[in-house]
Parts: sequence; structure tokens; C-alpha cells
Amino acid sequence: MESNEFQASLRWPEQREKFPPCQAACPSGNDIRGWIAIITQSGAQGLGPDDACILAWNRLVSSNPFPATMGRVCPFPCETRCNRTHKDGSVAIHALERYIGDWALRNGLALPRLETRPQHESVGVIGAGPAGLSFAWQMARRGYPVTVYEAAPEPGGMLRYGIPSYRLPKHICEGEIQRILDLGVDLRLNTRIGREVTLAELYNRHSGLFLGIGAQQGRSLRIPGEEGPGVWTGVDYLNLVNRGQKVDVGERVVVVGGGNSAINAARMARRSGAAVFLLYRRTREEMPAIESETEDALQEDVNIEYLAAPREILREGGRIRALIIQKMRLAEPDKSGRRRPVPAPGAEYELPVDSVIAAISQEPEWEDLDDLNPGGIWMECDATGRAGDRLWAGGDVLGLGIASRAIGQGRQAAEAMHVHLRGLDATENPRELAIPRDQIRLDYYAEQSPVKPPSRPPEEWLSDPEREICLTIAEHQFRQEISRCFSCGLCFGCQRCWMYCNPSSYTPLREPGPGAYFSLDLDSCEGCGKCIEVCPCGFLGLRETVQPPPSE
Ligand SMILES: Cc1cc2nc3c(=O)[nH]c(=O)nc-3n(C[C@H](O)[C@H](O)[C@H](O)COP(=O)(O)OP(=O)(O)OC[C@H]3O[C@@H](n4cnc5c(N)ncnc54)[C@H](O)[C@@H]3O)c2cc1C
Ligand code: SF4
Ligand code: SF4
Ligand code: SF4
Repeated sequence: MESNEFQASLRWPEQREKFPPCQAACPSGNDIRGWIAIITQSGAQGLGPDDACILAWNRLVSSNPFPATMGRVCPFPCETRCNRTHKDGSVAIHALERYIGDWALRNGLALPRLETRPQHESVGVIGAGPAGLSFAWQMARRGYPVTVYEAAPEPGGMLRYGIPSYRLPKHICEGEIQRILDLGVDLRLNTRIGREVTLAELYNRHSGLFLGIGAQQGRSLRIPGEEGPGVWTGVDYLNLVNRGQKVDVGERVVVVGGGNSAINAARMARRSGAAVFLLYRRTREEMPAIESETEDALQEDVNIEYLAAPREILREGGRIRALIIQKMRLAEPDKSGRRRPVPAPGAEYELPVDSVIAAISQEPEWEDLDDLNPGGIWMECDATGRAGDRLWAGGDVLGLGIASRAIGQGRQAAEAMHVHLRGLDATENPRELAIPRDQIRLDYYAEQSPVKPPSRPPEEWLSDPEREICLTIAEHQFRQEISRCFSCGLCFGCQRCWMYCNPSSYTPLREPGPGAYFSLDLDSCEGCGKCIEVCPCGFLGLRETVQPPPSE
């Protein structure tokens, strides 16, 4: 073999951290592998269990100040991409996040500031939902004075006024919000910007503004008979109930829609004792609501009618008597790629009902802020959330999403505003491709089924309607589940490279830690590539450029 060919056939290893798919899929950008590794590898650093949990929680809250909340309500897209899915089921990331979030609340942990001096530029936040509060946290930890203006009597946005307490107890959300306020964030409640305080006034007070007003206005059905008593939008209905008001929906209620608002409204209405009919114009396959929520609604005897849409509300003496329902069928896909529902000719029926909840969609309320977005429904901005001269935006005001996305956008906007206010150079982080499953040695890891979070028995759900249904895993389950993480793309010190290397090119480091257990000496490496083959997590890979042995 010619020397060049020989060199090309050699396999020079490279130690390089790669991006894990769970983090790539988390809309908040949580360093899931990183915080898990702090705990699973704490022994190597001589950390006690509590110190490890504190450090891990600090890492997690650097991107998401609401772990106990998100561990409860997030539909966990991170788990869908988890490489462990290809072995015996994804790591139950949401259950772990919830556990450590609850642990931090129980132990009264305070949010850690970044080591920085106080900044003098004050920033204003419009809306105390997850987007605004995430932004507030990111700016406060960087030392900025932050004022949050909130139209409602309490902070939290849809986390408080949309999501029912049987899914997210108020004290959990409140505890996580309080920690942000404890950093000195000034919260002005009952203050609607555009009404109580003008936007111009806000620009005078602050060096930068963040708009996180969400999408608080429910869309109406636009069908005959809708005007009058007995009709609510999903968000209005949930808002009233979550404020503790009694809403009389009668004995039979129809909820229209297939998203989270619809399912939450339907389940809430069941708790008032009503028979609930949920109409969705497509099929279950297309239904956007969180799958487990739909399952739970069915357990609670919510009657779901697919391929059905409301056509007319019939009233008698002003009161609702019945709803005319149009059966639908699916035609060709529309621009979004989803099959379009169209009326099935002649297929309609009358359903006797007392009230109707229209939970078909929401949009931002621009009424008092239309200077900001004249005539628009969704705010437009660049990739950092910049929407104007000193204005950034994030969360549902940019389009309906989930809370984790709102938190991620709040963080991104804060990072961009910080760069702007400090006159720093914006660094672009190139989006790395996540390490694929085929670079993980699945057979190295022992089989172990994922933890199943406990929940209250279904027969108690309606009889004790406020109490939380899903419960937090126990400590031993947490320890067991956390050990299931493959540490995709980051060395976890399994020692296989060291054990299999003939010329002993790997040397243990004196102070090991996640991602750093061995040094690699290419001078002695023979280029056999064995270490690359045996590395379970894909941390070792081929050098991108063929490199001759250093001695030549
Ligand atoms: C019923 C329902 C259930 C949901 N369930 C889930 C779920 O299970 N999991 C999940 O991840 N996501 C869920 N979502 C979506 C999630 O709640 C939203 O994506 C998220 O709350 C958006 O955050 P945000 O901060 O952008 O807006 P919001 O949470 O809507 O907060 C906006 C805040 O701005 C305030 N505001 C508005 N206008 C003004 C003004 N002019 N001046 C001052 N303040 C103002 C509002 O009062 C509100 O507090 C649900 C949504 C709904 C409606
Ligand atoms: S916020 Fe959601 S997507 Fe992100 S790690 Fe938590 S459960 Fe997963
Ligand atoms: S195994 Fe761990 S690092 Fe890998 S994708 Fe799953 S949670 Fe992330
Ligand atoms: S084989 Fe083990 S010790 Fe070696 S780099 Fe891979 S994970 Fe780290």
C-alpha cells in the first residue's frame, strides 16, 4: 500500500462534544443532558447528592425558570427525539424536570444571578405570561432593573388563567414566579399598557421593551344564534373559572375545537357536572391537543365527535335550546399540508344543549396597542425577536405555540437586547446537527424500562376536581430514570477507550467531570480506530481531516 493510501485508511480519533437531540427539540433550549450529567456523574467530582441537585437545577433554570411547571404541562417534544426511544423508550425528561423543580421549591432554592455588575438601563416588559417572565428573569440575572406591566390581577398568563389546577396547581406556578420577583423585579398588576399607561410613556421610562401580550382573545364561531347568553370563548370560560367564578353552563354543553383550550374547557365543564360534547372538524389524527389530554378527557366521559362543526345555535326565548351540527369530510390537503374539512352534503343533525364554548383559536388583543401592529394579527420580528427600534417580542403574540416556546423566545430576546444595550458583537451560534441514533452504541446500555409517573385513580378525578391528577415521581424513581440517559455526544467516563487502546494513548485526567475524563495523545495513537468503535455515546469520532501520525 502506498503511504498516502495507508494514512487514509487509518482512523484518527477525535474527542468532540456533539449536540444532543433532546436539547435540539426542546423549544426552551434546555441543556437536558448537561443537567442530568451533573447528577449522574457527581461521584467523579466528589459532590454530595444535594449539592449535585442544586448545581443541576442551576443549569436547568439558566434556560427555563419554570421546571416544576413545565415538567407538568409541557407536551415534551424533547422526548420524541430522545435517542433512547430506539432502545426501550425515551428518557422521561418531563418527569425528571418536574421532580427537580419540586425539589427546588421544597428546599427554597433562589434563582442564581450571573456574576455581573448592576446595569443602569431599565427595561420594561408588557405581559407577565411565561414569555414576559422568562425575559424578565434573563434580564434581572444580568443585572438590569426590570419592571413588568400586567393587565390581570395576578401574573402567569395562560399558565394561571388558562391551564386548570388539576394539571398545574396554583402554588407551583406561583412559587416559580415568586423566585423571579425575588430578584427585585418590579411587578405592576392591573396595569394594561395602552390603557392605564401609554406606550409612549413606557418608551420614556425604559431603554428597551419586551412585548409578551400573548394571544388572549378567543375567536368567535361566526354562526347564526351566537349572540346572546350561554356562549363563551374557551379562554374566557377558563379565565372565569380559574379566577374562582361560578359559570353556569347548564346540563349539556358543546365545546368546539381540537386544541388545548378546547380540551381544557371540556374537562373543566365536566367538573361542573355537565354532559360535554366536543366537536372537532377533522379526525383524531389531526387533533392538535396534547395526546394524553385527549385520553384523559375520554376517561372523564367527554363525548368527542370528530368530523363535526357547528352550523347554527337555536334559541327559545333567548336561551339556547340546541345546536345544529354539520358533519364534515376531509378533502385534499391545504397549504399547511393538512387535509381540508369540507361539509358532507345533507349530513347535519340537531343536538339539544344549554350552552356553547367556542375554543377554536385565539389571537392577540391589539385594541389598546394597535400603534404597534396596525391591522396585524401576529407580530412580525427577526430571528432574535426584534420587532422595532427598542422593542422585542416573544411568545404567543408571534403565533400560537406552547409555553416552552414562549420561555425560549423570552430568553432569546433578552440575550439579543443585552447584546444591543451593551454594544456587544452579536455572535451567531451555528445550529449544530444533533447526534443521530446510529452514532450511539445502543447495545452498550443495559435494558431498563422508563419510569411511569404515578397518578390518582380516574374515579377520583371528577369527585375532587381541583386536585392534581398526575403526581411527582419518588426519589428512587428519579435516580433510576436519570441513569437511563445515554449522555449522547458527551463523554461520561465509561473507560472503554482507555481499556481498549493498545498503545495506551488515553490518560485519566486528575480532575474529571462531564465531558472530560481522559486526555488523548495522538503521538502514540496507531490509528486503529478501536476507541471510536467502542465509545458508546458518540463522543469519539473520526477526525475530519486525515492527519499523518505526528512523528512523521
Ligand atoms: C387553555 C390553554 C391551555 C394551554 N395548555 C398548554 C399546555 O398544557 N402546555 C403548554 O405548553 N402550553 C399550553 N398552552 C399554551 C401556552 O399557555 C401559551 O403558549 C403560553 O402561555 C404563551 O405565553 P405568553 O407569555 O406568550 O402569553 P400568555 O400566557 O397569554 O401571557 C400574556 C400576558 O400578557 C398580559 N397582557 C395582554 N395584553 C396586555 C397589555 N396590553 N398590557 C399588559 N399586559 C397584557 C396578559 O394578561 C397575560 O398575562 C395553553 C394555552 C391555552 C389557552
Ligand atoms: S421544557 Fe418541555 S421540551 Fe423542554 S425539556 Fe422540558 S419537557 Fe422537554
Ligand atoms: S439519551 Fe439523554 S442525552 Fe440522549 S437524547 Fe435522551 S435525554 Fe438526551
Ligand atoms: S469510550 Fe467512554 S470514556 Fe472513552 S470517550 Fe467514550 S464515553 Fe468517554
